[in-house]
Amino acid sequence: MNAAADGGEFDLVVVGGGSGGLAGAFRAAAHGARVARLEPAALGGTCVNVGCVPKKAMWLASELAQAQQLAREVGFGLMPGALDWEAFVTRRTSYIANIHASYRRRFADLGITLVCERGRFLAAQRIAAGTRELRAAHVLIATGARPQRPAIPGGASGIDSDGFFGLRAQPRRVAIVGSGYVAVELAGVLHALGAEVGVFSRGARLLRSFDDDLGEALADTMRLRGIEVAFGRQPTAVAKDEEGYRLRFADGEDSRGHDELIWAIGRTPATAGLGLEAAGVALDQDGYVVTDEWQNTTAGHVYAVGDVTGRLALTPVAIAASRHLADRVFGGRDDAKLDYANIATVVFSHPPIGTVGLAERQARALHGDAVKVYRASFRPMLAALAQRDEKTLMKLVCVGADERVVGIHVFGAAADEIVQGFAVALKMGARKADLDATVAIHPTSAEELVLM
Ligand code: NDP
Repeated sequence: MNAAADGGEFDLVVVGGGSGGLAGAFRAAAHGARVARLEPAALGGTCVNVGCVPKKAMWLASELAQAQQLAREVGFGLMPGALDWEAFVTRRTSYIANIHASYRRRFADLGITLVCERGRFLAAQRIAAGTRELRAAHVLIATGARPQRPAIPGGASGIDSDGFFGLRAQPRRVAIVGSGYVAVELAGVLHALGAEVGVFSRGARLLRSFDDDLGEALADTMRLRGIEVAFGRQPTAVAKDEEGYRLRFADGEDSRGHDELIWAIGRTPATAGLGLEAAGVALDQDGYVVTDEWQNTTAGHVYAVGDVTGRLALTPVAIAASRHLADRVFGGRDDAKLDYANIATVVFSHPPIGTVGLAERQARALHGDAVKVYRASFRPMLAALAQRDEKTLMKLVCVGADERVVGIHVFGAAADEIVQGFAVALKMGARKADLDATVAIHPTSAEELVLM
């Protein structure tokens, strides 16, 4: 079937219907572009279906479980028991269904064509989708990434984060391999909901890419709460016996048995079968689509955003990059592009981590002795009332004679909500003196950031 007979000619074809692709499609259509969006799976991609949204739902449930535990410790009587996992998944699913419905309404309102097929480039401006061929003045690649598995015997057994969201009952004893975002988030959720959890990291620290103190503080708290956190544990094989999954490590030791095994060892860009070579779109050595600061790929009028580019694999980053791109290409804003510097991020651990800017080690590598660090470590009021030994950690990384704040790192209750506002201050170039000049809100944890 040829493209003209199919009516398949567009200003923009978006390949991939996750957060990045949808944001670009909506913004381009709002600028008047004729847009088609290709995606064979559920609307919203990883974030909405098997990432941020269902994860946050599970995190909220596990925070409630923790709150009940704390309530008992400060003197409340009997509390309700375990979460009805299956019933909660039903609530979670209906929350996500509402997001899908709102997307469909926006597609209809903006006149975006939905093609529920996988796209494949025939050439830079020609895309095959099932039996149809679409022609596009511009193409946006936003296909994301998928969880990866290790190439070891038994590496295909167990589940990954996608599989976690398919669970309909709480597993009892869980092994998690990895020490990044997904590993620590799922470990916290499962433990708070009552599972016995072991986290096996091949390295020496959790969250290796973050400020060192954050990973150390988190490991201390996870252990205090009863999670096994093991370092130097590189799995080389997985076996299953009557005790469940056992990991064999590089030193020859085996783990004890676990009922569930979760791989959280990073993600692989989703480029297979896209026909990128036909379009002249180059990949880097790790398989990510090469993009410049404007999200241009190596092919003319073909762009990429989000996890498939390997640049800060975070939903709001993909959305922001995509909107800027649509503003530039269809909205007449020639200078629109995302500033990737100083993007705040939260790890939904228990308690959470909020961070923005440079880790101390990064600042020292860049600025040497001009770096000054302020640190506060304290027992927050609720932990003290519950006679828990848990600490909140706050850290400011400053540079130069005027102590420009280049890094803010918080580990503790409400860090997920605290850091957004402080990120604005950092982005605006705040100095330590600006924080000192801000009167504290008392009694809070956040006030420590202006009292160091
Ligand atoms: P990360 O890249 O954060 O962490 C991967 C972990 O797997 C690291 O600890 C790494 O170890 C380890 N690892 C890699 N390969 C192996 C292997 N072969 N054997 C054993 N361990 C291995 O990936 P995640 O899957 O946790 O998360 C993917 C991305 O998704 C994140 O980078 C983040 O951008 C995003 N995300 C964001 C969230 C949020 O915003 N809250 C939540 C979840 C995910 P090492 O450190 O030694 O390299």
